[in-house]
Amino acid sequence: MNIHEYQAKELLKSYGVSVPSGGVAYSDKQAAQVAEDIGGAKWVVKAQIHAGGRGKAGGVKVVSSIDEVKKTADAMIGTHLVTHQTGPEGSVVQRVWVEQASQIRKEYYLGFVIDRSSQRITLIASSEGGVEIEDIAKNQPEKIITEVIDPAIGLRDFQCRKVATAVGLKGRLMPQAVKLMKAIYRVMRDKDALQAEINPLAVVAVGEDEQLMVLDAKFNFDDNSLYRQKEIVELRDLAEENSKEVEASGHGLNYIALDGNIGCIVNGAGLAMASLDAIALHGGKPANFLDVGGGASPEKVTNACRIVLEDPNVKCILVNIFAGINRCDWIALGLIQACNTLQIKVPLIVRLAGTNVEEGRRILDESGLAFISAENLDAAAAKSVEIVRA
Ligand code: ADP
Ligand code: MG
Repeated sequence: MNIHEYQAKELLKSYGVSVPSGGVAYSDKQAAQVAEDIGGAKWVVKAQIHAGGRGKAGGVKVVSSIDEVKKTADAMIGTHLVTHQTGPEGSVVQRVWVEQASQIRKEYYLGFVIDRSSQRITLIASSEGGVEIEDIAKNQPEKIITEVIDPAIGLRDFQCRKVATAVGLKGRLMPQAVKLMKAIYRVMRDKDALQAEINPLAVVAVGEDEQLMVLDAKFNFDDNSLYRQKEIVELRDLAEENSKEVEASGHGLNYIALDGNIGCIVNGAGLAMASLDAIALHGGKPANFLDVGGGASPEKVTNACRIVLEDPNVKCILVNIFAGINRCDWIALGLIQACNTLQIKVPLIVRLAGTNVEEGRRILDESGLAFISAENLDAAAAKSVEIVRA
């Protein structure tokens, strides 16, 4: 689960991290009010969408009057912001975050990810902030510093100093860097985050002095931990998520939209992946990943068909069930119910195996409906590709 920049900043602030003072606004008037409350002479109006790359796409604007804050907020709110991370359809800006503009001296990158090979939270830092970390990794890999954190002892001061030194943070910024890194690590641990990205972490001028400040923050939280992260769940913005994926999860279905034309209804994530592979192997493109899980009732199967068919690109549906906990007769009843209630016009290719398979096949045969049955996954995939090609 992702959250907005302003939510991430508020979370970080509650852990003692320095962020610019700011406020969220849902209208131009509110934005002007926030700017007035913050005071100062320069503000940044930032579109709040879950995707990054807003700066280059016009979603981050530095302005120097309250009137400009208002105009900029008005221009941003309600528009579709397209960045290189949103895809061509973009994301609707429902609110902006107005914050004090900082006088930036230098931008750094700071991130925490879970490194799968070491199975540990790993700190990543670079002196080349403000740009995409992927670009730095590709073009200047020597500029990326990593430090693996032992979960038993946590992030130690010496590790933070090592990373800070390597990216060139020194003097009075050093203790600030240590404090900041440890605070973000605490957020990761306390809130079950999978990823935190501060880009940029900036050295900003404060009068004669300078200070470290988080100017952009992204967090991704583990969906499997949300049951114990009530505060994080409250930050969820369903408008930023794929509406069908949200609906599917409400029905206990695991659905991911893809861009092909063969709808897939499968039980088990592994079999679903194998089904997508089989389709690809035969030269086709799946429209979705859908795992109906174990114990799929007729209602669940009907919901699955409905969600898959909401995608206008779907030209046929491949149903692949290997029933262990599931029952093929239930799946068959579900498919018949779906055909009757949804008036399905696209061909349904059905491959059933496992518990009560004979009963399942008999139910489908006697239904009088035109199911195309397949003996195995390979045959089912080949048949689906043949149908969409015809
Ligand atoms: P994104 O990563 O989506 O492009 P950022 O929040 O990182 O958005 O903003 C892009 C750039 O805008 C930053 O790299 C920074 O240079 C500038 N910026 C962001 N916030 C501020 C701020 N409060 N004061 C001054 N400049 C800012
Ligand atoms: Mg950024």
